[in-house]
Amino acid sequence: MALIVQKYGGTSVGSAERIQAVARRVVETVKAGNQLVVVVSAMGKTTDGLVKLAHELSSEPSRRELDMLLVTGEQVTIALLSIAIQELGQPAISLTGAQAGIFTEAEHTRARILEIVPDRVERHLKEGKVVVVAGFQGVIATEDREITTLGRGGSDTSAVALAAALKASACEIYTDVPGILTTDPRIVPAAQLLTEITADEMLELASLGAKVLHPRAVEIAKNYGVPLVVRSSWTDEPGTWVMSPVPRSRSLTGLEIARSVDAVEFSTNQAKIALLQVPDRAGIAGQLFGALAREHVDVDLIVQSIHEGNTNDIAFTVNKQASKLAQAVAEAISPVLHDNFVPSHDRVLVAGDIAKVSIVGAGMIGRPGVAAQMFKTLATAGINIQMISTSEIKVSCVIAAADSDRAIASLCQQFEISTSSNEHDRQHPNAPSVRGVALDLDRARLAILQVPDRPGMAAELFGILAANNISLDAIIQSQRTRVIAGVATRDIACTVAQGDAADAKRALEASVAQLGCGAVVVNKSIAKVSIVGAGMISNPGVAAKMFNCLAEAGINIQMISTSEIKISCVVSQSQGVDALKAIHQAFGLG
Ligand code: ADP
Ligand code: ASP
Ligand code: MG
Repeated sequence: MALIVQKYGGTSVGSAERIQAVARRVVETVKAGNQLVVVVSAMGKTTDGLVKLAHELSSEPSRRELDMLLVTGEQVTIALLSIAIQELGQPAISLTGAQAGIFTEAEHTRARILEIVPDRVERHLKEGKVVVVAGFQGVIATEDREITTLGRGGSDTSAVALAAALKASACEIYTDVPGILTTDPRIVPAAQLLTEITADEMLELASLGAKVLHPRAVEIAKNYGVPLVVRSSWTDEPGTWVMSPVPRSRSLTGLEIARSVDAVEFSTNQAKIALLQVPDRAGIAGQLFGALAREHVDVDLIVQSIHEGNTNDIAFTVNKQASKLAQAVAEAISPVLHDNFVPSHDRVLVAGDIAKVSIVGAGMIGRPGVAAQMFKTLATAGINIQMISTSEIKVSCVIAAADSDRAIASLCQQFEISTSSNEHDRQHPNAPSVRGVALDLDRARLAILQVPDRPGMAAELFGILAANNISLDAIIQSQRTRVIAGVATRDIACTVAQGDAADAKRALEASVAQLGCGAVVVNKSIAKVSIVGAGMISNPGVAAKMFNCLAEAGINIQMISTSEIKISCVVSQSQGVDALKAIHQAFGLG
C-alpha cells in the first residue's frame, strides 16, 4: 500500500461542487489501494479577501494578527472536504497545521518549517482514515503555541514537507492548469505543457515569477528526494514531474533551515571584459552578444549595470583561452555601439586573471543572510569582489585569480563544506537551452550610488538588508569607478520585492552616509523577465537571441543578470508582458 500526499489549490476547492469533485478523486485514490494525506488551500480567493479586509483597518497590520486571520481560510476547507469525503462513505478527519504536528520558526507571515511530528497523522492513517490537513500554517513549539503561516502560496510547501516527513511515495499538486507550462498560460495562451523539468530549473522559474509552485516546496522536494508532480484537478492527464537528483541523506529536524549551502564551486582561468559607457537604448546588448555568438565565444556571466546619465556598462566573463577573441570582437564592435563618442581607451576594459567562486544550495531561498555571509567571509579575507551574480540557488563572486585559493578555503570553512568542486565538471547533456520563461511584475529596483570600491562594502550593505529579513536578487555593480573626494566608487543595484522596497530604503538610508555611500534610489515601475534552462550552459547564442528579440520589440534593457541556468532582464513595467510574449515566441516555445 502506497502513501500519497495530494494537495489541492484554491481554485480546485473554490465551491461546494468542486470540493465534491475533489472528494471523489480522493476516494478513488483510496480505492486504488493507497493511504492518503490531503493538503488544501483556502477556497478560491479567500486569502486575498482576508488580506484586503485587514488593510481596510490598518496600513500595516500586525503580522501576528494577520496570521490568526489568514489561517481561518484553510480551516474552512479542511472541514468541508472531510464532510464531503465522509459523505461518500470514506472515513476522514481534518487537522489544522498545529494538530498535524507542523512546527515552525517564530517568524509570523513567513515562517519556515522546523520539524514535522507526524505521529497523529500516522495514527489516523492506520485507523483507515483520509487525513485532511490545512496547508500554509504551522505552530511555534513554545508554550504559547503561537500560530504561524508559511508565506503566500505556502500550501505547496506544507504538502511537500508532509510527504518528506511521512516518507510518502509521491506528492501530487493538483491545480487549475494541466501542469507546468513553458510560461504562464494566462499571459501566453500558446504556452506548452512540459512533461518534466529539473528541480533546479523549477526553483529558478518559481522564484522568478512562475507562481505555479512555491519555491520552498521545490527546495524540500530536491533536498529530500520527494517525487513531485503537478497536475490538473479537472482531468486525469499525467501532468509535469519535477526531477530531483538522488539526495544525500538528511535529518528531518530543521527541515527548512538545516543546511543553506551544499557546495562551494569555483571556476578559475577566466577573464572579464567590460564595455563602458554604451548608450542606453534598445539593441545594444543584442548586437554585442550576437557578434560574440557568431564567433562561438562561450560567455559565462553577464551583468549590465544601472545607468549613470544615459550610458550603461556591460560586463561578461569568458574562459581565458577565449579572452583574446572576445576582446577583439568587443573592440571591433565598440565604435558602432559607442557611436564613436567615447575615447577608445575608455571603451573596453579587460581583466585577464580572474576567478569565479560560488556557493550553491537550495536552502538559500528567501534567506538573505546567506549571501551576506559569503560577502562578509570574503571581506574578512581581504578579498575585493569585482562582480556579483545571484540566483535563488547560487551566489557567485568574481574576484582576482590570485585570491581564489584563499576565497575557496574561507568559504569552505564558513559553510562547513569539506571539498570544493570545479563547476565545469557538471554537464546537462540533454536539457533544452530554454525550458521556460517567467515574468515578475512585483519587483522594485534598489540602487545604492557611489559605494566606495573596497572589500567589505557588499557585506555591509547586504548585511543590513539581511538583518531586516529582506531578500534580494540580481545584484549588479557598475564596472566604471567614479572618484568622489579622492575615493573610487561604484554604483550597486539589486531587485527586491515591491513590498519590501520602502523598508529596504529606510534601513539602508540609516547607514549609507556613515559608510561613505551616496543616495539610495528606488524604482518600482520595472518588470523582470527571465529565461531558464539547464542546457543554456555552453550555448553561446542564447543570450544574444533573448537580447535581440527584445530589441526587435523595441524594448530597452535596463539591467541584465545571469547565472548558469538563467538570464534575467529588467525592463520597464509597461513593457513586461510584451517582453514575455516576444521571448516565448522567439524561442519557439508556443
Ligand atoms: P493553486 O491555487 O492551485 O495553488 P496558483 O494560482 O497558485 O494555483 O498556481 C497556478 C497558476 O500559476 C496558474 O493558474 C497559472 O496562471 C500560473 N502560472 C504561472 N506560471 C506558470 C507556468 N510556467 N506553468 C503553469 N502555470 C503557471
Ligand atoms: N491560501 C494561501 C494563499 O493564498 C496559501 C496557498 O494557497 O498556498 O497564499
Ligand atoms: Mg499556489
